[in-house]
Amino acid sequence: MNIRTVAIIGAGVMGSDTALDIACYGYNVILKDLNTEILKEAEERIKQSFRMIKMMKKELCELKQEDVLPHIVFQTDYKGFENVDIVIENIVEVWESKKAEYKRLKEVCKPETLFAVNTSCISITKIGSLLPDTSKVIGTHFMNPVPMKKMVEVIRGFHTSQDTEDRITDFLKSLGKNPVVVNDCPGFVSNRLSHLFMNEAAFLVQDQVASPSQIDMIFKQGFGHKMGPLETADLIGLDTVVNSLNILYESFQDNKFRCCPLLKKMVDAGLLGKKSGKGFYDYK
Ligand code: NAD
Repeated sequence: MNIRTVAIIGAGVMGSDTALDIACYGYNVILKDLNTEILKEAEERIKQSFRMIKMMKKELCELKQEDVLPHIVFQTDYKGFENVDIVIENIVEVWESKKAEYKRLKEVCKPETLFAVNTSCISITKIGSLLPDTSKVIGTHFMNPVPMKKMVEVIRGFHTSQDTEDRITDFLKSLGKNPVVVNDCPGFVSNRLSHLFMNEAAFLVQDQVASPSQIDMIFKQGFGHKMGPLETADLIGLDTVVNSLNILYESFQDNKFRCCPLLKKMVDAGLLGKKSGKGFYDYK
């Protein structure tokens, strides 16, 4: 099966950048979200990201917006899903929402469609159980910002077939990505590790041990990381971080994943990080 059309479900932080990244390599992309207002915001975000890509990625610097944007169809329905080769699902990190979405997807997609799940923490095996052919379900944990990060953590669910893994890793390589294949567990490798750092950094702020910039500076200059845990949490979105910590806590029943109350309070107050203009840092 040649991959021609990719559907991205969810046009938020991850979905919009993933749609752009894939369209830059000539694939046809359907970008679906719940309403046209969200899709309009996504289109603006995509235009901004495109300017960044042209500056930062040598191999794409000749691309013109008018050559790339027409490859992305923005829509709120499932029109054309019968021709989709790969679905990349990027909706909110909430099990009930994902469950409802897959119920719909299994009705509209062809039997050959591969399902690539961009969850942060939910088990790929559990998501696979929502679809008739679990061998075609795999995790593709893209890193944020998607066009700039080459590594994609690919997660094999319990029933994921070798054929699905091969097709998805070939597809990712065609986008210039470097897939690293791991086995399924909540949070996989990246988020099982990174959420401990982000959560503990939030506790340090809550306990007034240090300011966010001091914590991030110690992390970066002390350990040689490019970004600190609180800068990373702001970039991901604090709502997504809280949802992920809750899933990790429920899955492992381990107190080390108990979400810091300050994170919850910030989300309740609408401080979601970069996407809302304020989190541990100011972005306005
Ligand atoms: P987000 O909140 O920015 O975007 C989610 C989007 O999904 C919203 O626009 C929402 O309207 C839409 N949505 C919800 N239900 C929908 C449905 N049924 N159909 C279509 N659209 C729907 O979230 P995000 O940060 O883009 O995260 C999306 C997924 O990617 C989550 O599972 C998250 O854990 C994962 N993820 C996030 C990051 C990150 O850095 N933010 C990194 C890797 C993976």
